[in-house]
Amino acid sequence: VDRLTDKTALVTGSSRGIGRATAIRLAREGALVAVHYTANQAAAEETVELIEKEGGSAFTVRAELGVPGDVHELFLGLERGLKERTGDTRLDILVNNAAVTSTGAAPEDLTPEEFDRYFAVNAKAPYFLVQRAIGQMPSGGRIVNITSGVTRTAVPDQLAYAMTKGAIEQLTFHLARILAPRGITINSVAPGITDNGSALFDNPEAVKAMAQLSAFNRVGEAGDVADVITFLTTDEARWITGAFIDATGGTLS
Ligand code: NDP
Repeated sequence: VDRLTDKTALVTGSSRGIGRATAIRLAREGALVAVHYTANQAAAEETVELIEKEGGSAFTVRAELGVPGDVHELFLGLERGLKERTGDTRLDILVNNAAVTSTGAAPEDLTPEEFDRYFAVNAKAPYFLVQRAIGQMPSGGRIVNITSGVTRTAVPDQLAYAMTKGAIEQLTFHLARILAPRGITINSVAPGITDNGSALFDNPEAVKAMAQLSAFNRVGEAGDVADVITFLTTDEARWITGAFIDATGGTLS
């Protein structure tokens, strides 16, 4: 604990799932965390309550990603929240976690509109969030982009989604060269199947089948992935940048 004292962090999509677990861990290490969400205000407020119960600091920020003006709206709320609590708007840590994970459509039925939505939320929004954040990110800054094991193992049903994750990995890979001279790292973390609290994980048969994909024969917990993300935000990870970090529990091995 206390590896992130006096740091500020934004975790997109931290009302639930991996984002929530990450927000909780960053706060546990001492960071002031902006808990971002779009629809599920009660869940975002619950993330803040869980953090405050442990003695940490956090606030909610609402903004729908993937629509015009999204980054501007998010940063308005972010900067207001930071200014109220710290006196300035410095952001040290950005975790690009929010994503559309499924539209329900099979690849052969996917519409151009659904395709655009995937890319707007999962690739375009992170690009412009990074562009905006690095304008004022200080030395020691950290960016973590959440990708997926599906960029390394074929899952045809998730083709368009996997394409967006390939895009965010390129964001990591190329930007690392621009950011390193400023003391900022950027990395990708790839979860495998991870219990995000959705109904699918209440079905024992489904969980058993999914568990078999991991070398550990279980599905990931959100905390399994959040611990890896958190490590990358600390000073201990200063020598890692531009990397693809496999947090799939051995699914790709
Ligand atoms: P969840 O589906 O549990 O949560 C998604 C989060 O993103 C929520 O906080 C949601 O906010 C937010 N969000 C979704 N769409 C938008 C949008 N258009 N604008 C703003 N916020 C949005 O996510 P997971 O924890 O399952 O996944 C987190 C990350 O990990 C994602 O990048 C996903 O692709 C990746 N991943 C997950 C895997 C898994 O098995 N869970 C496997 C591999 C990768 P709200 O609550 O307000 O709706």
